Amino acid sequence: MQKRKRYASIDKKECVACGSCIKICPLAAITVPKGIHAEVNRNQCIGCGKCLKSCPASVIEIVDEVMHKEDISYEKQTKKVV
Ligand code: SF4
Ligand code: SF4
Repeated sequence: MQKRKRYASIDKKECVACGSCIKICPLAAITVPKGIHAEVNRNQCIGCGKCLKSCPASVIEIVDEVMHKEDISYEKQTKKVV
């Protein structure tokens, strides 16, 4: 048994907080909490990739997270897909 989740991930160290990704996200899943760098709310994000294309600094990637159930616990595997 496994659970999957696809979401955007932002390299906070390289983000320049320009706001392009925030404007284009259809689900309002990105914020700039302290005006320093953008952050993705993984619970809202559907991994559509629109923000990735809008980022002038190319600091967004889409990752696919798979949780494999081993006995009673889940083992997490995360990989970059875009
Ligand atoms: S991948 Fe789509 S839903 Fe997720 S933050 Fe980017 S634009 Fe929003
Ligand atoms: S578009 Fe890129 S550089 Fe601009 S706020 Fe979003 S992640 Fe940061």
